Parts: sequence; structure tokens; C-alpha cells
Amino acid sequence: SPVIGVLALQGDVREHLAALAGAGAEAVQVRRPEELARVDGLVLPGGESTTMSKLAHAFNLMEPLRARVRAGMPAYGSCAGMIMLADKILDPRSGQETVGGIDMIVRRNAFGRQNESFEAALDVAGVPGGPVEAVFIRAPWVESTGAQVEILARYEEHAVAVRQGNLLATSFHPELTGDHRVHEAFADLVRTAR
Ligand code: GLN
Repeated sequence: SPVIGVLALQGDVREHLAALAGAGAEAVQVRRPEELARVDGLVLPGGESTTMSKLAHAFNLMEPLRARVRAGMPAYGSCAGMIMLADKILDPRSGQETVGGIDMIVRRNAFGRQNESFEAALDVAGVPGGPVEAVFIRAPWVESTGAQVEILARYEEHAVAVRQGNLLATSFHPELTGDHRVHEAFADLVRTAR
């Protein structure tokens, strides 16, 4: 089975490790460049993207992450992880950088205060078996995408799940529901890329 890392600087790392194990992958934590070098794919968890960005620099992981994504390593980002995979943030905090790789602009905390957290059943292209229960927590949405980006799901009119090549991102948190189908789809992508 493929070895899939979870970027373990900050955020809901344990939940992703459990979801990946549930999806039949070997899941390991990634905190150092040597650990990143050993994985076939990587999950960037939910959390706080500004903090994750700072810690990625502090742990000397930002450039290695960019290099591996550029080289085609499959990666999946949920929520803050989606922000990390975006080429551009609409409203970045000062100094906030991303790994990038997906040609999209994301809006942080897009759903506003009335909607800090909510759930919705969403059909996600590439995830068979019916709607996914999508948990949104201070979630971003995808404001605009380039031609190479496929929109996999929308909530109201907003894109909330996207794919570009080996890169996958969701505004929501499938790692919190016990439904491992999104992680299974990502594990399949990693197997195919390998
Ligand atoms: N609002 C957070 C951010 O901007 C993301 C929240 C989450 O990952 N649940 O990074």
C-alpha cells in the first residue's frame, strides 16, 4: 500500500492519519524534510493556514514541499490545507505564503460569521456512493480557477472541492466524519501516480 504522509506541524493531524488508515493507506507524520522525501503522497490538514505557513518555514519544509509538488507528488489539502495548495490567497495575512500548485485564488474564512461552521450533503465528482457529509469550519471557498482546474463540488454557487492533476483540495473536513471515501479517492490517486 502507498505511504501517505500527513504534514504534522499544526492542525487536525490525528484525524487525517486515522482516515488514511481507514482508507487502507500506510499513514505517517511528516515534520522534517527527510520524512517528506519518503512519502508517496501528502495530506495537508485543516487548522490555521497562517500558522502552518510560518511553521513550514521554521521547519525548513516550505521549499522541499514546493519542490515535491512541482515534481508531481500527489497532495490533498482540507480547509487550511486547501489554502496551502492555492497559488494565491485573496486576502493573505502579511507574510502568509503558500506551497501552491493549484491554479486558483481562495478566499479565507469565506462563509462569514453567521456561518462559522455548518454541514451540508454534497455530491463530489470522483467520490462514488452518494453525497458526502461535508463539515465546514471557518472554511475558505475557491474564488476563481485557471483552465487546468476541475471543480468537483460546489456549495451554493461556490467551488468547495477541486482537482488539478495530482492535487486535490476541499474546503471541508472529511477527516471528521468517519466516512473515508475522499481519503480513498486520494489513496487511489497516489497508487496511480506511483
Ligand atoms: N480559517 C482557517 C485558515 O484560514 C482554516 C480553518 C480550518 O482549517 N478549519 O487557515
